[in-house]
Amino acid sequence: MTGVDTHQLEQLESNARREVAEAESLPDLTAIRAGYLGKKGSLAAILRGIGELDGAERAAVGKSANITKGRIEQCVAERRAAIEAAVRKQALGAQALDTSLPGVEDPPLGRLHPITRVFRDMVEFFSSMGFAIEEGPEVETQYNNFEALNIPEVHPARDEQDTFYVDGGNVLRTHTSNVQIRTMTGRTPPFRFIAPGRVYRHDLSPRHSPMFHQIEGFMVDEQVSFGDLKGLLMAFGRHLMGDDIELRFRANDFPFTEPSAELDYVCLLCEKQGCAVCSGSGWMEWGGCGMIHPRVLENCGIDSERYQGFAFGMGVDRTALLRYGIPHIRLLFEGDLRVLGRI
Ligand SMILES: [Zn+2]
Repeated sequence: MTGVDTHQLEQLESNARREVAEAESLPDLTAIRAGYLGKKGSLAAILRGIGELDGAERAAVGKSANITKGRIEQCVAERRAAIEAAVRKQALGAQALDTSLPGVEDPPLGRLHPITRVFRDMVEFFSSMGFAIEEGPEVETQYNNFEALNIPEVHPARDEQDTFYVDGGNVLRTHTSNVQIRTMTGRTPPFRFIAPGRVYRHDLSPRHSPMFHQIEGFMVDEQVSFGDLKGLLMAFGRHLMGDDIELRFRANDFPFTEPSAELDYVCLLCEKQGCAVCSGSGWMEWGGCGMIHPRVLENCGIDSERYQGFAFGMGVDRTALLRYGIPHIRLLFEGDLRVLGRI
């Protein structure tokens, strides 16, 4: 008998089946297959011995070797399919969406920005008093922003307001009072309007930002007095800040109103003790107001002998600072949720 017989092939197949069955990964399986069926593998080594056999035996062993090879290939293919299926199942398992899991507890809720809330409150109040809403452009002619409001070019108010000038000789409006001019021109009284919007001045401090928000209001009729203005603004202050809010009117001087007053309210941050936000005074300037200067009415084509009116302008951002206890105006615009999320 030669060095090759069917028993060797059976043994080889048996070993191969055991190893293949134990393979855990595709690289392992490939290495095992090469060890048995590759050019330098066990089966090739056996076949090298059949040259010593006679013709009939050689043919019989060769045939058996081919059958063994086929069976081992079949065994490897089955194992490969099983490993691939296991890998696929694992991957799908990792991505699976388990809809029975509990959701995120207490997801954070969005809310309106403090300025939007104050604006809405203000608009709601004046709407209930019969005021209509008007809007105007933020890039304005110098005439509508200054001259028509009785602020000639030499007037110191132009410097005080630290104006931003833009191309074409226009300005970024320094107040919402431009809407007074645009709205009153060509209209016949009586009327009452408010004009909420953004305004711009070259200024930065705990109370000032280069861009800020104002609400302008004005009313023109045949019998309008400073008493009407005062009563309206007192009611407005109580609506926004509560019935206990302390307000004061302080005589002042504006070119577009006569007489003019500054409206202050008690600094709610320090309760009159004085702090950085109120510059130690205990009071916050809220806005300016007064009876519309006859010259402004005339500039808009309104008969100042027959009609009078009052006008006022309030800082919206400053109202938000006080109402929500925010110590610096910049915090309103930085979008920091640690601040805005608590308000
Ligand atoms: Zn204060």
